[in-house]
Amino acid sequence: MAIADYLIVGTGLTGSVIARTLADAGQSVVMVERRGHPGGNVHDEHHPSGIRIHTYGPHYFRTGSDKLWEFVGRFACFRPFEAVLKARVDGQLENWPIAASYIRRTIGPTWTPGFTGTPTNFEEASLAMMPRPVYEKFVRGYTEKQWGVTPTKLSTELTRRFDVREDDDPRLVKHRYQGVPEEGYATFMRRMVAGIPVILNCDYLHCREQLAADRLLVFTGPIDEYFGFSLGRLHYRAQRREHEYLPDVDWAQPCVQVNSPSAADGPHIRTIEWKHLMTPDGAARIRGTVLTRETTVTPTNPDQYEYPFPDHANAERLTAYQQLAAADPKLLICGRLGEYRYFDMDQAIARAQLLAHRMLDARVAGS
Ligand SMILES: Cc1cc2nc3c(=O)[nH]c(=O)nc-3n(C[C@H](O)[C@H](O)[C@H](O)COP(=O)(O)OP(=O)(O)OC[C@H]3O[C@@H](n4cnc5c(N)ncnc54)[C@H](O)[C@@H]3O)c2cc1C
Repeated sequence: MAIADYLIVGTGLTGSVIARTLADAGQSVVMVERRGHPGGNVHDEHHPSGIRIHTYGPHYFRTGSDKLWEFVGRFACFRPFEAVLKARVDGQLENWPIAASYIRRTIGPTWTPGFTGTPTNFEEASLAMMPRPVYEKFVRGYTEKQWGVTPTKLSTELTRRFDVREDDDPRLVKHRYQGVPEEGYATFMRRMVAGIPVILNCDYLHCREQLAADRLLVFTGPIDEYFGFSLGRLHYRAQRREHEYLPDVDWAQPCVQVNSPSAADGPHIRTIEWKHLMTPDGAARIRGTVLTRETTVTPTNPDQYEYPFPDHANAERLTAYQQLAAADPKLLICGRLGEYRYFDMDQAIARAQLLAHRMLDARVAGS
C-alpha cells in the first residue's frame, strides 16, 4: 500500500532538500532513514570536552550562489568560517593547495612542469601543473594513501579538486559565502525536515514490501546496494577516524586541517583540530583540544561508503546499474551514493532542487 505520493529514502542533503521542496509545494512526502538521526553525513555531535565534532568528517560549507546561501539560511544562522589547510612537507607546514611561491622557493624562479602533452591519467595531469619533486612531496603520497593504488591508475578528473596558486592566500577555496551553522549541522538538518514525517532506524531495503510510493520512490542510498550488488560492487574509499583528547594543550596545530602526504609521517592522511571551527570566545572556554586522525580504508559496509573510486571500471559498472534503474519509471536513484559522485554540499543542494523541480513540473504536465 502506498504511504505517500513521494517516498524518499535517505535524509542526507539530497533526500532532505528534495523532501523540503516537494513539501513546500504541498506534495505528500514520507522519508525513511536507516540511521538513528536525520541529515546523512551532514551531522555533528559534542565531544565530552564541549567541542563539537563532525561525525562523518569535517564539513566546510561554501558556495558562490546567493540563492543557495539564502536557502541554507532558512534553517541555520551560518557563522563565517574559511577553512585553511596545510600539508606537512619536509617537517614544515606548507599551504595546500600548493603556492607557486613554494615552487619558486624550492625549485627556482623558472620552473617547468613535470609533464607536457595531453594527460591520460591523474599522475600526468598533476605533473602538468608542477615539477616532479613537488608532485612527489605533496601529491603522490597523499594520493596513494587516499586511493590505495598508484596514481597512474586514476582518472585525470581528480585534479579538478586542486590547483597551484599564484598568490599566497591560504584559504582552501575563495567562494563568496563560507561558514558553519552556529548551532551545528545536526540542528540545521533537523530543521530542514521539520514537519515532514521521517521514519528513523528503518532500512528501506529490508521492508520494501511495506513501503511504497504512489508516484515516485526517490532512493538516495548506494545504487549497487539497491540492486543487491547483482552487477558487482562499486568500489569506495572511506576514512577510519581516531579521536584524541589532549586535556593540557590549548592548540595543537595552526589551522583546522593538516594533511600528511608522506608515508614517513604515519598511515593517517590528515589531522583535524575541531576547536578551529569554534568562535574565539567559545574556544577560550574549553579546556584542552580534540584531534581527529583520519586513515583511509576500503569499506565493505555501505553505511561507511565515502569516496567513489575514480576509474574506468567503476564508471562502466555505474552505467550498467543506471540502465537497470532507468527501466523503472517510478524510481529515481540520486545523491552522492545513488549517482556515485562526489558532491560538495552546495552542489548536492543545487542538484536536489533541480530534481525536485523536475518532479513538480512532471506532476503539473501529468495532471
Ligand atoms: C569525508 C567527507 C567530507 C566532506 N566534506 C565536505 C565539505 O567540507 N564541504 C562540502 O561542501 N561537502 C563535503 N562533503 C560532501 C557532503 O558530505 C555531501 O555533499 C552530502 O553528504 C551529500 O548528501 P547525500 O544526501 O547525497 O548523501 P548522504 O549524506 O550520504 O545521505 C544518504 C542517506 O541515505 C541513507 N540511506 C542509505 N541507504 C538507505 C536505506 N536502504 N534505507 C534508509 N536510508 C538509507 C543514509 O543513512 C544517509 O543518511 C564531504 C563528504 C565526505 C565523504
